[in-house]
Amino acid sequence: MSRIAMRLPEPGEIPPDGGTAVQEDPERPVFSGNGPDDYVCVRCGNLLAATMPPEYMNRKLRIKCARCRTINVAVEVEGVDYGSAFGRRPPRSA
Ligand SMILES: [Zn+2]
Repeated sequence: MSRIAMRLPEPGEIPPDGGTAVQEDPERPVFSGNGPDDYVCVRCGNLLAATMPPEYMNRKLRIKCARCRTINVAVEVEGVDYGSAFGRRPPRSA
């Protein structure tokens, strides 16, 4: 298991069809799954999503940290089939 930091949204980056999950209790992650990795706030390191499968952590997923109020965006990585999670096509390689 590893801890993966999320990232800050880029200026103007507001995916129209994405939603922001708001964490209300800093002691409780918003999501938990059965995957290998924990995802933490880029600013304060608070646990936002626990043991998540990587294909769910796509760039449309945003989580507002209960501790520092930062909106975090998931970092997409190469080689992950995000389409398998939400019926989305995998991102084109740059
Ligand atoms: Zn935070």
